[in-house]
Amino acid sequence: MEVILAKTAGFCMGVDMALTKLDQLVAEPDGHPIYILGPIIHNPQVLKRYADKGVIMVHDPAEVPAGAHVVIRAHGITRQVEESLRERQVIIKDATCPRVKKAQLLIERNTAGGCKLLLYGEVDHPEVAGLVSYAENGHFVFGSAEELAGYELSPGERYVLAAQTTQDRVQFEAIAERLTGRGDLNVTVLETICDATKLRQAEAKELAKTVDFMVVVGGYNSGNTRRLAKVVSEEGTPCEHVETVDELPLSELARYKRIGVTAGASTPRVLIDQVLAGLESL
Ligand code: SF4
Repeated sequence: MEVILAKTAGFCMGVDMALTKLDQLVAEPDGHPIYILGPIIHNPQVLKRYADKGVIMVHDPAEVPAGAHVVIRAHGITRQVEESLRERQVIIKDATCPRVKKAQLLIERNTAGGCKLLLYGEVDHPEVAGLVSYAENGHFVFGSAEELAGYELSPGERYVLAAQTTQDRVQFEAIAERLTGRGDLNVTVLETICDATKLRQAEAKELAKTVDFMVVVGGYNSGNTRRLAKVVSEEGTPCEHVETVDELPLSELARYKRIGVTAGASTPRVLIDQVLAGLESL
């Protein structure tokens, strides 16, 4: 059996940087407790490892006591939460992905002159909550072109159009083209999409065409891992989404000649290596 690993499998730059910052704090304890606001990564195995090392996860920033360290995850946080943490003398380790930070600052700068933000993204996503908190003059979040079409835009108003970093570039560009092409609207389009997700999906799709079976490794609660499994299945290639090597249906897989492996942006290398070893044992 041949096992082929996608080049883009595993951590993206933002997740890698965030975990490196948390690892540094854990490795050099200074007596102050270490907190994270929500899961630093959507992978239960990694979260358990941090919990075992004493990292405390809370969802409410008010639960972080003064003097404690708090690591801001790659998605970033809202401006209001950041201010309240600073006021309460919490030691902030900002691990917001540089691409998310750039999107926040672009939104802040471009909405400062009175423009309203139109944001293409998932309304409940923490990154979106952070992004819209930088909009100075109100915002509207939409998940599709249809949703935006149902929103009344006023010709007299100035708008800034941006996207959550993980949104699809092609769809965003189509939306931008439609808005700027209207002629009666004043719209500034911001470049905020990160291609890491798209490149990973494109590679998974290509790999799926050349193998008999695909294994996608990553947390079940990781949106980008689930989307990878979906992209592969849409190619018509049989596929299994697993969190760990123990979940591989080995007896079923033994009959395949070529198996492709990819992994979400929040999947640690060690879990990918264990899956590769499990497959190679066949
Ligand atoms: Fe940063 Fe892109 Fe990773 Fe999001 S997907 S954390 S924007 S590198």
